[in-house]
Amino acid sequence: MKAVIMAGGRGTRISSIARDIPKPMIKIAGKPVLEHEIACLKDQGFTDLIVTVSHLGDVIMDYFGDGSGVSPVTGEPFGVKIEYFVEKEPLGNAGALFHLKDKLTEDFLLLNADALFDVDFNRFVSFHKEKGGLVTLFTHPNSHPYDSGLILADENGAVEQWLTKEDVRPEYYRNRVNAGLHVLSPKVLDAEITTAKVDLDRQLLKPLAGTGKMFCYDSPEYVKDMGTPERYEAVCRDFEEGKVQARNLRNPQKAVFLDRDGTINRYVGFLRKEEEFELLPDVSKAIGKINASGYLAVIVTNQPVIARGEVTVPMLQRIHNKMETLLGYEGVYVDAIYYCPHHPHKGYAGEVAELKFDCSCRKPKPGMLIQAAQELNIDLAQSWMVGDSENDILAGIAAGCKTALISDGAFGQTVAVSSLWDFTESYLDREEA
Ligand SMILES: [Zn+2]
Repeated sequence: MKAVIMAGGRGTRISSIARDIPKPMIKIAGKPVLEHEIACLKDQGFTDLIVTVSHLGDVIMDYFGDGSGVSPVTGEPFGVKIEYFVEKEPLGNAGALFHLKDKLTEDFLLLNADALFDVDFNRFVSFHKEKGGLVTLFTHPNSHPYDSGLILADENGAVEQWLTKEDVRPEYYRNRVNAGLHVLSPKVLDAEITTAKVDLDRQLLKPLAGTGKMFCYDSPEYVKDMGTPERYEAVCRDFEEGKVQARNLRNPQKAVFLDRDGTINRYVGFLRKEEEFELLPDVSKAIGKINASGYLAVIVTNQPVIARGEVTVPMLQRIHNKMETLLGYEGVYVDAIYYCPHHPHKGYAGEVAELKFDCSCRKPKPGMLIQAAQELNIDLAQSWMVGDSENDILAGIAAGCKTALISDGAFGQTVAVSSLWDFTESYLDREEA
């Protein structure tokens, strides 16, 4: 599969760091960001590259050549084949694709070189093939969803709405942002475009929302924009601490599994409405600490209210959207949410009979943790389960995790803590040190 790397961006906001070099040549740990990206692709077998350049493109072409040479920084071969498309006049970020149509005869990766990324591309491409759409967007939660464009999708990942920053958004929404990495079918280029300048997002992708032909691929892997000096410095720090590479899902992950009711939000018995959802004190701070650590934040929650017929799946989604929105305002996020909709005891009025059975995901069983481990390559022995009840601790133990209990009681937990914040203060820092 070919990869097209869009390396023509000007990056005006970052000119204080790199005045006379194009943005993709900005160095991270001594190596241009584009070299990191090319190395990541090469390692995974993507060696057939097209790089589109414009502003100061000569610097890029002189450095990488046709990809058959060696890196001036590392002395290692680049190990790829690079063709260039030089934009002589501004074509927007997608105009070049129309000039490359004869070379793009099969599905291809389309990657924005303005961000540092390290992701499992084969996994991304498999997802794309499995869904069979024209486009798959790489999506993730970020630390500023309130001023980011949002991708709204159905349960199957089909994109229903593409909201730009300026569009009116629902009060509560899932923290799901387009990361600028895509798999595209060449059929997308059949779109009737009459302008020379083409904006990828607005003219090619956004119109596919709601057609069932565009999907989103949610991943916690590292993709971060370096659009401002502050963000650039944060990316450099993450790289030096090894966080960029570690998040590639080819590598085993560690997670903090979080119970929901009583751990993240105030316990109110069966929570049925979004109005009843209220974050506990310092939970945002604690989740921020997990985000900054090497751990994924993964919620695992029993929601028998669904089997009882008291909450529908869309209502539960709204409750979770409220949670994600509130956390987003604080600059923090969860990486994934798993819920068990089942309940074992049949025979009540209003129940959803097909969800009334003895499943393997309802805590104290470890099914949700095991599913998350399979889907996100989590090493359970390196992970924690944190919750306020016996069921949480037993599920954590059954999954082979370390466990932290937020309450009094002795259920065999590894440690007892007074809150999620207490847990992150007492145990995450110590481990990271
Ligand atoms: Zn279940």
